[in-house]
Amino acid sequence: MKMPPVEPYRIRMVEPVRLLPKEERLKRLNEASWNVFRLRSEDIFIDLLTDSGTGAMSIYQWAALMMGDEAYAGARSWFKFEEAVRDVLGIEYVLPVHQGRAAERILYTTLMDKRNAKIVPANTHFDTGRAVILNHGGKPLDLPVPEAKNPKLEAPFKGDMDTSALKKLIEKEGADKIAFILLVLTNNTIGGQPVSMDNIKAVKEISEEYNIPLVMDICRFAENAYFIKIRDERYRNKSVGEIVKEMLSYGDHFIMSAKKDGLANIGGFIGTRSRELYEELAGRVVLEEGFITYGGLAGRDLEAIAQGLREVVDEDYLKHRIEQVKYFGELMEELGVPVIKPIGGHAVYVDALEAVPHIPREQFPADALAAFLYLESGVRAVGLGALAFAREENGKIIYPDFELLRLAVPRRTYTSSQLEYVARSLASLLEKKEKIKGLKIVWEPKVKGVRHFLAKLAPVEKVSL
Ligand SMILES: *Cc1c(COP(=O)(O)O)cnc(C)c1O
Repeated sequence: MKMPPVEPYRIRMVEPVRLLPKEERLKRLNEASWNVFRLRSEDIFIDLLTDSGTGAMSIYQWAALMMGDEAYAGARSWFKFEEAVRDVLGIEYVLPVHQGRAAERILYTTLMDKRNAKIVPANTHFDTGRAVILNHGGKPLDLPVPEAKNPKLEAPFKGDMDTSALKKLIEKEGADKIAFILLVLTNNTIGGQPVSMDNIKAVKEISEEYNIPLVMDICRFAENAYFIKIRDERYRNKSVGEIVKEMLSYGDHFIMSAKKDGLANIGGFIGTRSRELYEELAGRVVLEEGFITYGGLAGRDLEAIAQGLREVVDEDYLKHRIEQVKYFGELMEELGVPVIKPIGGHAVYVDALEAVPHIPREQFPADALAAFLYLESGVRAVGLGALAFAREENGKIIYPDFELLRLAVPRRTYTSSQLEYVARSLASLLEKKEKIKGLKIVWEPKVKGVRHFLAKLAPVEKVSL
């Protein structure tokens, strides 16, 4: 018999959730313009929209909140935070910000301006980072390894960057046209897939050879390190803490959203090994976020993050985290749902092109699947496909490689039986997939790269219950 992963914690406080009747859910979907980002949390039974800031804090984090020092400058909580970043991540200079995208905006645009360069190659850009670069007139390029394009292929490190494509790009464009190289750990957009230590080293070598800075997006550094431990036998006997330090030792600058592997509900930071760049960025942080010892966060947030960074490298926690997501994904697979393999670190991704082949790409199959999953079961997941990533070039629409439904698992929040409910609901929805209709855009925002968050949509045909 297959055992579900057993939680290495017990639950001491609960937040009731309720499942609305189906007619109500249809009403709420209509009110939300069929975009699940526009739903109210209260109307959702199980919320797998994101693993960002949605995790449960530990008793130690809640206790730490009470220790928050809310001084504007030089707060005790700031020094605790800085010490945790240095101890756990081995990063010398750190600037707190209110969340990851502020770190992206400040670091990425500073590097682009400093080098007067527009091109930013990545293993695969995440949506907020891509939007920051696009809105600054830049050119974000995705260079994932070829294996990443095959959703059925079981490869251990599908998050890797294609280093020969990277070299070719640099040779073709010239190193001075590249603002920086970005490695996203784990590779969120590709399916939460890890990046190998060998790949990190190879990218570092290229960055040194051509003198281009290497930036790491370390939102899920602990999950990436745990995958290296279990998938690369040379690291089996190393602690996750040691692996984290080695991984990050190859990076020059860093952005972090503490809402992921900071195990906190808000926060982020910029890290760098360069004193000179730190001083440049500090001015912008004061102007755009807050004084350099709080960066738009309360002292209590800094306390929660400092404690979260120390907890997230705990191997009992990580083992359960990775195994719970895997259990969830494998259950869906057994039930016939086409999932991306191998199962990623923070989410299960469903191939919407295969799941709902009757919906053409211009009708946003992934987002339609998300809307109809809510209608079916009160579960919220998110579509990542053409609505988010399609772009226009010379009047032609270029579609992204994938059309995915992402079911992100918040940290320490849902039990395995709740995830089983989700898996079974999605499987039963797909048994009557002809009921799922495509969507059309009714309204979209002018800002580039954020369409999926804000668009108002409607089904192309009448929906019956
Ligand atoms: C969430 C995330 C970000 C942005 O962080 P926010 O805190 O949501 O602003 C950047 N990169 C990756 C890989 C992320 O997952």
